[in-house]
Parts: sequence; C-alpha cells; structure tokens
Amino acid sequence: TFLMAFLHFFDKMQLIAAQFVLPDDRAAQSLLNKLIRSNLVKNTNQVEVLQKDPNSPLYSVRTFEELRLKPQLLQGVYSMGFNRPSKIQETALPMMLAEPPQNLIAQSQSGTGKTAAFVLAMLSHVDPSRKYPQCLCVSPTYELALQTGKVIEQMGQYYSEVKLVYAIRGNKLPRGTKLQEQIVIGTPGTMLDWCGKFKFFDPKKILVFVLDEADVMIDTQGHQDQSIRIQRMLPQSCQMLLFSATFEESVWNFAKRIVPDPNIIKLKREEETLDTIKQYYVLCNSREEKFKALCNIYGAITIAQAMIFCHTRKTAGWLAGELSREGHQVALLSGEMQVEQRAAVIERFREGKEKVLVTTNVCARGIDVEQVSVVINFDLPVDKDGNPDNETYLHRIGRTGRFGKRGLAINMVDSKMSMNILNKIQEHFNKKIERLDTDDLDEIE
Ligand code: ADP
Repeated sequence: TFLMAFLHFFDKMQLIAAQFVLPDDRAAQSLLNKLIRSNLVKNTNQVEVLQKDPNSPLYSVRTFEELRLKPQLLQGVYSMGFNRPSKIQETALPMMLAEPPQNLIAQSQSGTGKTAAFVLAMLSHVDPSRKYPQCLCVSPTYELALQTGKVIEQMGQYYSEVKLVYAIRGNKLPRGTKLQEQIVIGTPGTMLDWCGKFKFFDPKKILVFVLDEADVMIDTQGHQDQSIRIQRMLPQSCQMLLFSATFEESVWNFAKRIVPDPNIIKLKREEETLDTIKQYYVLCNSREEKFKALCNIYGAITIAQAMIFCHTRKTAGWLAGELSREGHQVALLSGEMQVEQRAAVIERFREGKEKVLVTTNVCARGIDVEQVSVVINFDLPVDKDGNPDNETYLHRIGRTGRFGKRGLAINMVDSKMSMNILNKIQEHFNKKIERLDTDDLDEIE
C-alpha cells in the first residue's frame, strides 16, 4: 500500500508537472506547427477588417503582381511556390505596403500566411543601399526566431543585398559593433540589450517593427515589458505590426500598447462540426478490456489512418508498447520528446509510414493531420477538474466545414464515471453516440 500511495503521488506530480509546462508548450506547439506545415490552412470565412480611418478606401489584391513588388521579391515569392495571396494576405499586404505606412494588428490561426506576409513587407521596405538596421522582428523564442529567419532568407534569396542578423542568446558581438544588416530578428531580451544597452544599432532609424506570435509572447514573464521598452525607443513614424494566432483579452491589451492607431484584421477559424462523423462508444470494465476491444477493432480501423488519444503520457506509452507487442506497427507522440522528434513522428505518420499514432492531448493540440479518418478516445477528454472537455472532444474528432471527409470516432468507456462523461458530451453536441459491440463489427464498415 505504501507503494500504491507512492505511485499515486507520483502520478499526481506528473499531472502537476504537465500543467506547469503548459505556457512553454504554446511556444513548442507553435514551433511544431511551423516544422510540419507545408501548406496554407484552408479557410472559407470572410476576413473582418476594422480600419483606422473608415473612410479611406479598402484595397485588397488577388495577385502578387498588383502589389508592384520589386522583381527580386516577386521572384522570391514565386520560387516558394506561392501562386496567389492567401486570404489574410489579400488584405494585409496592401495595408502594410501602403504609403504612408499603416499600423496593423492581424489575427488568424497558424498556417494562414501571416509570417510570409510580414516578411514580404519587411523586405519591401528596406533600402539595401543603406548599411544599418531598418526592420526589427521580435519572436517569443530562439527557435521561432530561427524559423522566421529562414522564411526571410528564402523569400529574399534573389535580393542578396539585404542582410539579416539574429539577436538571440548565444550570438555575442564585440562591444562597439555597429550592425550593417538591414533586418534584425530575435527575442525581446537580446533585442533590447542590442539596442538599449550595447547600442549595436540606432533604434531611431527603424522603419518597421514586427511583433510576431503575440499570444505566445505574453506567456513568458518579462517579454511584454521588454517588447514595450523596445517599442518606446522607436520613432513615431515607425510602422508597427503585430500578429497573433489567438486573441484573448490579455493579447488584445498588449497589442493596443504596442500598436498605436492600428488597422485590425481578423480571420475566424473554420468551424468544426461533428456532422460528418459517426460516433460510437465501447463498454469495458478496465484498461485491459479496453485494450482487448481495441485489438478487436484494429483491423477495421487501420483500413484508414487512426489516432488514439490517452489521458496521460504513461497510458500512451503503455498502450503503444502493448500494441507493438501484438505485432502492430504504431507511432508514439509523447510530451517528453523534443519538438524536432515530435515533428519527425508526425511527418512519418503523414507519409503513411505508420497507420496508427498514439498520443496524449497536450501533445496533439493544434495539429491537424488531414488524412486521419478514425479517432479513438482511449480515454475521454476531461479538464483538470475531471469534467467533460467538449472543446477538446470536438477538436479531436470534428471536421472543418466543407473540406471535411467522413470520419469515425470510437470512445472507450471503462467506468460509471466515464459513461457519465460520455453522456454529457452527447448531450452537449446533441448528437447520438451509438453503442458498438466489438465482437460484432459489421456496423462500422
Ligand atoms: P502563419 O504565419 O500564419 O502560421 P505562414 O506564413 O507560416 O503562416 O504560412 C503557412 C504555410 O503556407 C507555409 O508553409 C507557407 O510557406 C505557406 N504559404 C504562405 N503564404 C502562401 C501563399 N500565398 N500561397 C501558398 N502558400 C503559402
């Protein structure tokens, strides 16, 4: 019993630890999205625009030519495989490239083309003949700064006079350095040191200030203050641009402090629905029974690709182990993996090298693997108080708008408590979840 108590305590600690790493997880999630994203996220919603001056005409463009970009940049854009501006870019690009420059706050989910948009704006505004920093871009983490830097390098590949430097930890410059690069990208702390303390460049000469991933930024203690202190050193005439994937009250308050007189652009996420999903539940008495039931339906679910969700890393690890022991080839996506490792696992799964991906919720949040048509909730999604987590349920199995293919969701129920949760989820969405007898599988075909 001492051992049991200890194990219980250990489990609790793990749960607590899991909650502690959450803020950082937002940065990790964002990086993961960037590492695995190769395409624009589809979105059929309309862009909402709030103009600083509602009487000024609103331009939006359908082609990159209309923007009258420098030929080197247009070439860069096309070489990245972009044919036409994304939804958010249609409106954001003309605003950012307008004369006189306009300030902008833009919000849309990750993968909708924000980074590409502000990179293009920065590259358009610099004067390559002047050898000093003219654009600043702050990102929440070292890794995210590197990712954005890569986009700058790619898009600017035919515009080699424009140079880029990274203001990130580890990049130590000798005292007295005067930067010659036109674009500085980095994290708020180092950026602040570089312009305030070390005076590596003159903030008064900055034309464009970009604050990327504002929602991730404010999760880190100190980043808000540092960003605001950088912003205060910049001239009045400097163009301020702020981007965020989500827009809570806290992000909004921060955005208003960074960006005076902004134009505001928002693109709502595509709604997810359960309309094209067949939902089932399987009644069991224990974890082992759930595993047996899963083995029974394994053949049926692996006709397509499947994702299996567990509540804890421990269960996910156990389940992946048991499935492998049965001779099934499965992938495990777990919170203790490095982001790069996680990206590699997702990549393999996307390529179809594995048919089944076992994961926890924290890990898979924000990842949409389009070809997945079967989702198994080995554990039902609950929040930290043990209440049904409807939002996560919808996000795990729902499909967006008219792009959604048909799908199948199977929920494993192993106690009165989880039956109760299932019933609440069913009520919430007002859609029947049918009982599935795993010894008689004709129904799910
Ligand atoms: P966000 O910053 O909103 O997460 P990104 O700018 O990183 O979005 O774009 C997401 C993905 O879509 C990237 O792989 C990017 O190369 C690609 N992309 C961006 N703009 C376009 C476009 N106009 N046409 C095609 N692909 C694009």
